[in-house]
Parts: sequence; C-alpha cells; structure tokens
Amino acid sequence: MSHPEANCVFCKIVAGTLPAARVLETGEVLAFLDIGPLAPGHTLVIPKAHYTNLPTLPDEVAAALGAVLPRVCRAVVAATGAEGLNVLSNTGAVAGQSVEHVHWHVIPRRFQDGIAWPWRPLTYADGELEAMRRRIACELSG
Ligand code: 5GP
Ligand code: ZN
Repeated sequence: MSHPEANCVFCKIVAGTLPAARVLETGEVLAFLDIGPLAPGHTLVIPKAHYTNLPTLPDEVAAALGAVLPRVCRAVVAATGAEGLNVLSNTGAVAGQSVEHVHWHVIPRRFQDGIAWPWRPLTYADGELEAMRRRIACELSG
C-alpha cells in the first residue's frame, strides 16, 4: 500500500501535519531526526509513500531510498563527529519495529557509547548451510 495511512505518524510527518526536524527531502524520500535518539543525530530515512516494511518495497522505491542513504550517512558523520554508524531497518514487531512505515535508522556510534545489540553468532550443523543457501536462492529465482 502506498497511499497515506490516516493513523501513521510518518505519513503525518510527510504531509506536514506533524512537525519533524527535517534534514533532507527529495521527490520520494524524507530524512528527519528521530524523536527518541539512541545517540544525538540519530536520523530516520523514509519513503514518502506508505509501505509497511522493507520486504514490501517496490524496487524503484528501494532504489530511491538507497540512493540517498550514503549521503545522509556522510552528513550525520560529519555533523556529529561519529566514529561509525549502525544503519538498520527493523522489520516486524519481533525485530523491534514500532512504526509501521518503513524506515532506515542511521545511528551515530562512538566507542564506549554503551549501545549494544545481543549479537550471538550461531554455527551451522553439517549440511545446514548448503540447505539454507538452496532454500533462499530458490525463493530468489522463483
Ligand atoms: P522502530 O522501532 O519502528 O524501528 O523505530 C521507530 C522510530 O521512530 C523510533 O526510534 C522512534 O523514536 C521514532 N519515532 C516515533 N514517533 C516519532 C515521531 O513522531 N517523530 C519522530 N521524529 N520520530 C518518531
Ligand atoms: Zn505511513
């Protein structure tokens, strides 16, 4: 769905009925400061059209988002003096998505900033890596 959703806060920001600290606007994309930043300068990049999450994005909308992301990243690093960034898009409540209008978080990072994800790598049992590769490759070729 790409029409504005009446109850969507990001559609309201796009429409201008809800204020936001905008940093970049193109024909298809808007970037603005997150109101609850994990670090100062935490920026959100969204398509102006309403799509729920990354898997539902048409290629051309994804391309428009992807085209501005590096520029936003450079600006956030330059403006904040960050030593790095996390760029991520939470997809689904299970992954922490709270606003159902797709968005990329651009989060400035510094050593010792206390931001941490519980990143615990698993290992594949014998044959499981190849079986998984086949399943995903099959979906992509279908
Ligand atoms: P999610 O949890 O869906 O990955 O991220 C949603 C983000 O949107 C959160 O980091 C939250 O702080 C931010 N957010 C929610 N409502 C508003 C709002 O009205 N204005 C702005 N600027 N950010 C918002
Ligand atoms: Zn929306």
